[in-house]
Amino acid sequence: MQTDVVIIGASAAGLMCAAEAGRRGRRVVVLDHANRAGKKILMSGGGRCNFTNLDVSADNYISDNPHFCKSALSRYTQWDFIALVDRYGIPWHERDHGQLFCNDSARDILDMLLNECRKAGVEIRLNCTIDRIDKTDAGFTIDSSKGMFKAGACVIATGGLSIPRMCASPFGYQVAGQFGHRIVPTRPGLVPFTLQPGDKARFAELAGIAVDSQVSNARISFRENLLFTHRGLSGPVILQISSYWQPGEAVSINLLPDLDAAGWLKARQAAQPNSHLKTVLGEWLPKRLISAMLGTEPADQPLQSFSHRRFEAIAESLQHWQLRPNGTEGYRTAEVTVGGVDCDELSSKTLESKRVAGLYFVGEVVDVTGWLGGYNFQWAWSSGWAAGQVV
Ligand SMILES: Cc1cc2nc3c(=O)[nH]c(=O)nc-3n(C[C@H](O)[C@H](O)[C@H](O)COP(=O)(O)OP(=O)(O)OC[C@H]3O[C@@H](n4cnc5c(N)ncnc54)[C@H](O)[C@@H]3O)c2cc1C
Repeated sequence: MQTDVVIIGASAAGLMCAAEAGRRGRRVVVLDHANRAGKKILMSGGGRCNFTNLDVSADNYISDNPHFCKSALSRYTQWDFIALVDRYGIPWHERDHGQLFCNDSARDILDMLLNECRKAGVEIRLNCTIDRIDKTDAGFTIDSSKGMFKAGACVIATGGLSIPRMCASPFGYQVAGQFGHRIVPTRPGLVPFTLQPGDKARFAELAGIAVDSQVSNARISFRENLLFTHRGLSGPVILQISSYWQPGEAVSINLLPDLDAAGWLKARQAAQPNSHLKTVLGEWLPKRLISAMLGTEPADQPLQSFSHRRFEAIAESLQHWQLRPNGTEGYRTAEVTVGGVDCDELSSKTLESKRVAGLYFVGEVVDVTGWLGGYNFQWAWSSGWAAGQVV
């Protein structure tokens, strides 16, 4: 089959690119090996798709080239996507940190994209295995289980490695490698931490407890909820820092981010010497967490029995808790893949390969990884849109 554009990957970035290219009158075919389009859109945001954020900038992205994402993000912004969502009358709401979610279902976003594709005459072929892509003088030939496609432009929108059961594959990196592109080493991002055996036993009883925390490493700091789970630590603050975490490294956790804990304990000691340490700390933290954190410290003793130095040590353990994760839960549960196709070999304006004319990489397969909060979809929309203007 001869066409203008073949897009591989029928999800966020691929469908946006397809709708835009189709709208320009290009003949577009989208191929995907999954049995339905947009599986990750459907499972995103707990089923409600955190489709963008009110406050988007390059600072919300991780990349070896931190400037690369600016062009696409500034040309197709969160306001453009919100306008599209509003045109479809999809109800949405804002949550903390400017995150926008559908009121009803992520399906609304997928249906909107599929409808945009339908209106633009895009053809989507599912259950399609790609065997081979070759560059020819006229463009590309794509050998697949649904036959041979010939196109002037080929867009790789196959995402990253996270959640293999949702049809994630290394295909995009392989195609990039085939055409001589460098891949920035990949690792799971937005992923829960697993704990060292000692910590696992210590915190086993705390599964389900969530506390507002500040979590930092040498590069960055986040403040949101931390969640103890049966497997380790999760919650938004852990997912955020995980994208910046290197194996073997410790993170510093402040469980009382609004407090000078030592000063506060001293003041309470002066005012209420007979109050028990655990009761006083219980104003801020769940009792089970206090017991696990204080270890051998006699938390049932009255404040008057503690020296100021011990208060300082207790404050240190609660506000500068040095945790060295055992690892992460890996791609099985990671929301994204950090790393990917090196930005330096792509045009930031069009996402076209600088090595092979007519070859494009959009969305998560590129070395641009967003924070939690709708940033990854915004990158998929913006990069897909940018390529859609030129393919
Ligand atoms: C559980 C979960 C929740 C998330 N929630 C949010 C959220 O609320 N907000 C947010 O911004 N981000 C969220 N993300 C991240 C977001 O889903 C991704 O960043 C985004 O989907 C990337 O879009 P993409 O089109 O580049 O890739 P994907 O959405 O991963 O799509 C890639 C497509 O390519 C296809 N494909 C892969 N390999 C092949 C192959 N070999 N042959 C043919 N087709 C192939 C796949 O089937 C898929 O359809 C979430 C991710 C997960 C896993």
